[in-house]
Amino acid sequence: MGRITLEKVQKKFGDVEVIPPLDLEIDDGEFVVFVGPSGCGKSTLLRLIAGLEDVSAGEIRIDGQPATDKPPAKRGLAMVFQSYALYPHMSVRKNIAFPMKMAGMDQEEQDRRIAKAAQALNLTDYLDRRPGQLSGGQRQRVAIGRAIVREPAAFLFDEPLSNLDAALRVGMRLEISELHNTLETTMIYVTHDQVEAMTMADKIVVLRAGVIEQVGSPLELYREPRNVFVAGFIGSPK
Ligand code: ADP
Ligand code: MG
Repeated sequence: MGRITLEKVQKKFGDVEVIPPLDLEIDDGEFVVFVGPSGCGKSTLLRLIAGLEDVSAGEIRIDGQPATDKPPAKRGLAMVFQSYALYPHMSVRKNIAFPMKMAGMDQEEQDRRIAKAAQALNLTDYLDRRPGQLSGGQRQRVAIGRAIVREPAAFLFDEPLSNLDAALRVGMRLEISELHNTLETTMIYVTHDQVEAMTMADKIVVLRAGVIEQVGSPLELYREPRNVFVAGFIGSPK
């Protein structure tokens, strides 16, 4: 579970082609990072996969099933939003339970999943607090917990750490990488930060103006950047 295929996926906003038709294959369990400068289309590509934007042309498949016309809730993916998307008036437990409650899941199953997510994220002792009573890192973990309980085929992250301070960011990077090792679920992670890409990814997708410049492991990109843009962006000595 968690194989995502894009075939000739194109996105236009009005007359502006933000993403020319592109192909991409994401394997089950992979940690894939979309990296590139601001405005290159990383968020748009992620939102197309999530179903938050409609494609202008092309096909998206999730685990072999056509997903192009499915609404976000039916794709089995979970988008992790930045921690400020938490509900401030609800406890951590209720924030995490929210998507399950919306889905009408029975209470026993909700409790089981909350306990599991809280344990994976070291939040067991914080379930009855409100977001305002937590640190930035803990709040970000609650946002991740809200995605975990849906047991998605893949997690989609859009610059989840960009409003944390530098020290906290390094710690959260490690935590997300560890979570990936534990869950073995596909993760797609968007960032404009080369260091994040190089340290977290199994596979990096380098984007420029909606075009995939290169796809490869951090080592491949470092050793054999396809062009000066990739070399410059990755910081390799070509
Ligand atoms: P990134 O996440 O890499 O910074 P985005 O995917 O947000 O880039 O944006 C890519 C391009 O698409 C930008 O030029 C942006 O202005 C444009 N864009 C994004 N969303 C919209 C929208 N809803 N309407 C029109 N243009 C958009
Ligand atoms: Mg973006």
